[in-house]
Amino acid sequence: MALIKCSECGKEVSEKVKACLNCGDDIQKQIKLARSKRKWKDIPKSEKRQAAITGVVLGIIFLFCLNSCLSPKTPAEVEEGHKRGARGACRMFIERQLNDPGSMKVIRQGNKAVHVEGNIYETNVNFTGKNAFGASIPASYHCVVRLEGDDFHLVSLKKNR
Ligand SMILES: [Zn+2]
Repeated sequence: MALIKCSECGKEVSEKVKACLNCGDDIQKQIKLARSKRKWKDIPKSEKRQAAITGVVLGIIFLFCLNSCLSPKTPAEVEEGHKRGARGACRMFIERQLNDPGSMKVIRQGNKAVHVEGNIYETNVNFTGKNAFGASIPASYHCVVRLEGDDFHLVSLKKNR
């Protein structure tokens, strides 16, 4: 049990008591005030470490919460995310097959992916890309993907005629 000096009367009292036994001054208030005035170098290492750990833990919880806790997704939002993901995956699968992947420019026509059934999504991707001769030509692919966990797997990719 640590003793502290009462800042009112100067008598030593236990830091656990509510009020000074001598003058009746609020000891807990004195402790709080002393802590708030404390300089960083006076704070014991154990307390700094505790504060750092608490900060890190709260930070991690906050990051985990950012997506789920603060704004839980509705089933419709989840589905929307899957459709966007399917389209992104299809674009990537097509890009891999091109002679010049960097030249691919998707033409936005608002054609979203369609949830066909189960975990199958399909979409048409219209784009321009450079052919073997370096000419930029339009092309369109019909792409079907399967969602497994968080990953999309290519089911089929066919060039539209
Ligand atoms: Zn006192």
